[in-house]
Amino acid sequence: MKVKSEGRARRQRIFEGLSVAPGIAIGPAHLVDAHAPQIPDYEIAAENVGAELERFASALAKAQKQLRKLKDKSSKLPAAAAEEIGILLEAHLQMLTGSRVVRGVQRRIVEDRRNAEAAVQAEISDVAKEFEQLDDAYLAARAVDIREVGDRLVRNLSNLTYQGFTHLAPETVILAEELSPADTALMDPAIVAGFATMLGGAQGHTAIMARSLRLPAVLGVAGLIGAVKTGDTIVVDGDEGRVIVNPTRKTLADYRRRRGAGERQRQQLQRLSRLPAVTRDGVAIRLEANLELPRETELAIAAGAEGIGLLRTEFLYMNRDDLPDEDEQYAVFRSIVEKLQGRPLTIRTLDVGGEKLAGALGKYGETEANPALGLRAIRLSLKERPLLEAQIAAALRAGAHGPVRILLPMISTPWEMREVRDVANAMVRRLKRRGQAFADPMPPIGAMIEVPGAALAADALAQVCDFFAIGTNDLTQYTLAIDRGEERVAHLYDPLHPAVLRLVQFATEAALRARLPVAVCGEIAGDPRFAPLLIGLGIRELSMATAALPRVKQRIRALDSVAATRCASTIMEQSDSGRIAVLLDDFNGLA
Ligand code: PEP
Ligand code: MG
Repeated sequence: MKVKSEGRARRQRIFEGLSVAPGIAIGPAHLVDAHAPQIPDYEIAAENVGAELERFASALAKAQKQLRKLKDKSSKLPAAAAEEIGILLEAHLQMLTGSRVVRGVQRRIVEDRRNAEAAVQAEISDVAKEFEQLDDAYLAARAVDIREVGDRLVRNLSNLTYQGFTHLAPETVILAEELSPADTALMDPAIVAGFATMLGGAQGHTAIMARSLRLPAVLGVAGLIGAVKTGDTIVVDGDEGRVIVNPTRKTLADYRRRRGAGERQRQQLQRLSRLPAVTRDGVAIRLEANLELPRETELAIAAGAEGIGLLRTEFLYMNRDDLPDEDEQYAVFRSIVEKLQGRPLTIRTLDVGGEKLAGALGKYGETEANPALGLRAIRLSLKERPLLEAQIAAALRAGAHGPVRILLPMISTPWEMREVRDVANAMVRRLKRRGQAFADPMPPIGAMIEVPGAALAADALAQVCDFFAIGTNDLTQYTLAIDRGEERVAHLYDPLHPAVLRLVQFATEAALRARLPVAVCGEIAGDPRFAPLLIGLGIRELSMATAALPRVKQRIRALDSVAATRCASTIMEQSDSGRIAVLLDDFNGLA
């Protein structure tokens, strides 16, 4: 019976999903169980008990320091929030000060000879269960706090704050029910070959992070998790949106061949990096890179990016419990500016909310019924001014070392732009008072055009902006009312919908009339299929994932801009996105 079931488990199985990041990954599966964090559990030798107790003591001290810092920072919040969070953090602190939890962990290390992580896990689990069984609803709910304190201790013990996937064998394929952008940011492409999940859409930030890290990925794979176990051989086919579990020898050989061919093609395309992005009839297109993580800067330069058209600063807030201050942000921005050696860096202020919640900021947005329509992006920054001030001051300081631009997400009114300009002027005065160097003149301040209302009012916004960056990811989401991160409606997500294209055209024309630079930095900018349409609409700047640069450049160099303009005007007369796709494919010679 057992043999039979093992035989069945080994059979090749193919699952379909959304292809969100190209390439082929082959390797052993690592199943991420969201409910059971991977905590090392081993027995320690008698002579190591003292060292283990010390390790626990320093994790404890670190946790106390973190909580005090968090308490201090939260005291600057509006009064009601400060009080509520203050009480909570105080309770966490008490759990770590000579409490039963602490004594219990110490006892498990000494008597049971468990390593500190396992001792914390076991003790926390016992105490939390006791609380959950209490009749008093308030006390029962405290079990959540106890578990949170335990997680903090385990993180500190691992001393690898939130370093989720470092213990895996090279070429591992991660499989999970769902992965957040922050989880994905922890994947080191030297270790992780690719990943697949059951939830998530093609335009969500997990998908964007995968493309950015060049990790082949397939999301929205129904039935995946129940059908695999850690150690199974997996192929993630990011080109076709397929996951193959326990492939046959022949399938494996086919995929290895394809992976090799893909690699050779990538190397060939790399030769384009030094050539200009100019159409056949001499129109220069500026190609820049979108950056999710600073470590991609060198790759972007090597791929020929003429600058960073979009630095998503959310990474600064991910996988941590505290907020990055101005100095920390300045240091990061400055190091990118220096690496860019005169190429411009477009720093976008924080865009959390919607599907991108940062741990350090979760409390601001997580209770909203419609977070994508709530206190997201610039709305949060304008409400919590210290957040905005720190980012603007850091950007201004980085601007003393090379060209920067400041980009604001989710702008919907000229008032928001004016408010930010006031903040920027106030920061200049502050930096002058402090005697710190800053960008002079004031760097260009621009708006993301990603809310339909902003696109329709682009002429008014053009009066108060120095540049536009059209964010077609959100523009599509908000125009068509399709959650970009939701796999169940992913088939309806369509940037070629005439409504989206009309908004892109309207915003582009408003910018051109006002002589403002205008770029497209949504994911379509990185799809060579879209290049003729965008160029035909008058766009001359595209910003995209680094990995997409060579192909888009190749397409541009083969393009005639006059023909592209004709193609765009035919497309803009259409009312059906299916017909638009056919016309575009025809033009691209793909039909
Ligand atoms: C967009 O919405 O198109 C965009 C570039 O911003 P993000 O994907 O970060 O929301
Ligand atoms: Mg956006």
